[in-house]
Amino acid sequence: MTTTSEQLLDIKKIREDFPILHREINGKPLVYFDNAATSQTPKHVIDCIVDYYETKNANIHRGVHTLSQMATDAYEEAREKVRAHFNAKKAHEIIFTSGTTHSINLVANGYASVLQKGDEILVSAMEHHSNIVPWQMLCEKTGAILKVIPMSYHGELEMDTYKQMLNDKTKLVFVNHVSNALGTINPIEDIIHLAHAVGAKVLIDGAQSAPHIKADAQALDVDFYTVSAHKICGPTGVGMLYGKEDLLNMLPPYQGGGEMISEVTFEKTTYAGLPHKFEAGTPNISGGIAFGAALDYMNDVGFENIASYESELLKYATDEISKIEGVEIYGTSPEKKTAVLSFNIKGLHPYDIGTLLDKMGVAVRTGHHCAQPIMEFYKIPGTVRASFSFYNTIEEIDIFISALKKAKTMLL
Ligand SMILES: *Cc1c(COP(=O)(O)O)cnc(C)c1O
Repeated sequence: MTTTSEQLLDIKKIREDFPILHREINGKPLVYFDNAATSQTPKHVIDCIVDYYETKNANIHRGVHTLSQMATDAYEEAREKVRAHFNAKKAHEIIFTSGTTHSINLVANGYASVLQKGDEILVSAMEHHSNIVPWQMLCEKTGAILKVIPMSYHGELEMDTYKQMLNDKTKLVFVNHVSNALGTINPIEDIIHLAHAVGAKVLIDGAQSAPHIKADAQALDVDFYTVSAHKICGPTGVGMLYGKEDLLNMLPPYQGGGEMISEVTFEKTTYAGLPHKFEAGTPNISGGIAFGAALDYMNDVGFENIASYESELLKYATDEISKIEGVEIYGTSPEKKTAVLSFNIKGLHPYDIGTLLDKMGVAVRTGHHCAQPIMEFYKIPGTVRASFSFYNTIEEIDIFISALKKAKTMLL
């Protein structure tokens, strides 16, 4: 490892913050390279959840009693942390959801009453199923037409084709900031700018970018942005939807219930204002608070440090794996990639590789990564995906590479 990265991050100290990194799997030290599926949780965040249940547990926004007030304050402080992190103009532009899937469905459901037959929706060829299926459902409901922005063999969106696809019928554009299957960082600044020029709104799925890149909602001028806390060192079952105030005000509520109303009679119900209109029912209170704590933790480590350290890990892993004969890597523009290595070894099924790696303590993801259209594009059943985080090390990559070589000789 170069001295710069050692100076950037005190990896030894960081690893001490993550209890799970010290356990063994199948008698071997855990090497966790499935960070793009979910990140591990630092003690700081785990403690925050424990503290909530030990000292503050109560329902929010309702009670006059002290505990309810404490829980409400902590939850709203977390919303403010999320707002500040993504630089939203107002805290009520941050809607707490159960994660990216929920956030996208909330928007897709809302647009069912806005879109008309013949309107056009663009999605990219490298989307996660959760950024495809809700829009297909929306098209079925409204008669809108779903069109796909193509990608190149290197795993980059074809921007010239995108420009030609945009027209005054284009109402919505949905692209992930970073592809979970390939790691490609998409040029969302240009995507947003070009869409706005024809009056279309843009939703950016930030599930995979949030662990590596600090997105600035106002600078991007993005209309909607979605994040899952569990991919940025937070707990599962919580995330956020950022939306511009006027757009969120325009969309109808997603679910009806408690918390989201202003007044209810059997004749007519009026809805609460933002953000409550979209937060029906008792939310994941401890999760929301822990989401805020996870952002604190990540910001303490520093996103610039994280990005440069992870790109060193990616470069090292890419160089080492390329020395193995028969390896094909998908998504090959390393300067525009997060630390994701999606690959196959000629003649071997990804599932068999993943199973053998697990026996040697190495956790990777195998399969289609909820992005079947990408697999179809490359005409493969799936890939092996190793995805790195700032708490991984060069030594772990060495273990992974030698485990991979061993798996190859066992299988071929
Ligand atoms: C993980 C992921 C999702 C889905 O997130 P959930 O937390 O499962 O709702 C959507 N898009 C991308 C790019 C992802 O990586």
